[in-house]
Amino acid sequence: MSIAENLKAIRHIFKKYQSKADLVAVSKRQPDERIEEALSLGHRVFGENRVQEAYEHWEKRRDLFPDLKLHLIGPLQTNKVKDAVALFDVIQTLDREKLANVLSKELKTQNKTLSCFIQVNTGEEDQKSGILPNDLRPFLDYCRQDCDLNIEGLMCIPPLDEPPALHFAFLKKLAEEHNLEKLSMGMSGDYEKALALGATHIRIGSAFFGERAEKV
Ligand SMILES: *Cc1c(COP(=O)(O)O)cnc(C)c1O
Repeated sequence: MSIAENLKAIRHIFKKYQSKADLVAVSKRQPDERIEEALSLGHRVFGENRVQEAYEHWEKRRDLFPDLKLHLIGPLQTNKVKDAVALFDVIQTLDREKLANVLSKELKTQNKTLSCFIQVNTGEEDQKSGILPNDLRPFLDYCRQDCDLNIEGLMCIPPLDEPPALHFAFLKKLAEEHNLEKLSMGMSGDYEKALALGATHIRIGSAFFGERAEKV
């Protein structure tokens, strides 16, 4: 399947739910030809999970496509914050106070604003990053009041062995309770459920680009 065909199938599902969500095309470990194909179709919203790889894919293309919107969807180490702030438009993985603090300082240094999502560990899994649901209120207050960050929404990655719809519904409830508008939820395997439950951003890799290379 070409990206054009994949996009058509995805658009069809958007229509079914009358969704106006942003389709964040996850370009991690995808070859250059496919990225070029997506750009030639007019797609401009992309997600990456590693800062260094994002530079390889997007540093030069940023200048060619001023309307690009780049989302960081993977964990951010504080020593990469400077590079992340310089490249990305949205950080979807704000998950700890130290990061909020370093990010806030770097935004002032670079005189930039970014849109941020707080990653919530909805399944309370030990190995997964994200704020625990019970810690969301104080963390949100810290991000806004102490760090002056622009927090627009929540993001989650459901546990592999549980129905994703439960987690999407829970994330939506949390967002409503905290007056947050945006919801990043849903990937290739479950985005239809996420759209049905009100996702404003879905993060789609393989169902958009095709299978990606193995992790190295
Ligand atoms: C890789 C990745 C995706 C995309 O995964 P697909 O299953 O290929 O759609 C979405 N979100 C995050 C956080 C990812 O790391």
